[in-house]
Amino acid sequence: MSLILGAIAGSFLNVCIWRIPRGESVITPSSHCPKCLKPIRWYDNVPVWSILYLKGRCRDCQAPISPRYGWVEVSSAALFTVFYLKYGISVQGIVYLTMTLALLAQALIDLDHQIIPDEITLPGIALGVIASAFFPGLHGQEHWQGGLLHSLLGVALGGGILYAAGTAAEWVLKKEAMGGGDVKLLAMIGAVLGWPGVLWTLFCSSFLGSAVGIYLRLRRGDERIPFGPYLALGAVSYFFLGKNVVQIYSRFLIY
Ligand SMILES: [Zn+2]
Repeated sequence: MSLILGAIAGSFLNVCIWRIPRGESVITPSSHCPKCLKPIRWYDNVPVWSILYLKGRCRDCQAPISPRYGWVEVSSAALFTVFYLKYGISVQGIVYLTMTLALLAQALIDLDHQIIPDEITLPGIALGVIASAFFPGLHGQEHWQGGLLHSLLGVALGGGILYAAGTAAEWVLKKEAMGGGDVKLLAMIGAVLGWPGVLWTLFCSSFLGSAVGIYLRLRRGDERIPFGPYLALGAVSYFFLGKNVVQIYSRFLIY
């Protein structure tokens, strides 16, 4: 069941990834082939299955369809299942899964267009703050003030650190170093994960970013990857690794 729901959500994610950066509505019109513009028949729009059945080509014009559509659907199905197994059907699981799917969309949009759209980050910040106040357990807190405080500190820290780093780098390098999209993305991550999650995300994404950056530089010269995908990976690793590490650390700090 979680596999099916996940594949359907992945299909919708593909629509978002294509349309949001182009300023199109994600609801209407229905999906069409980007090459010949013919609408896609409902029976050709079954996640994963259709791509395999049509051998990755449009039924009308035979234009190749990127295999990435299929991978996004498969990843989404896998994420639904993993979060279901880890958190069950709970508020925590739903909030974390929603954020992870939003991060997946943002990472791919950032890779394609070098932008992180406000249409996802700004509602994400609002939802994260509201959810934290109503469900303080997201941050291991018992009262709404604690959850809200964790979330707001996360927004301030996440946005603040990248904004400050960007401004400093701009001043030194005399060119734009950090996009406003990255600032809002880490603020969104902070709204959902709280301030400890921001520290973890920043640590992981900088580490990953430097490692991959050095590797690419050695191999292919001057290729650059935007920072958004690293932030997304760092944030998702918080659920599976970071939370435990932060818990162990805070135990040392408090006692
Ligand atoms: Zn076509």
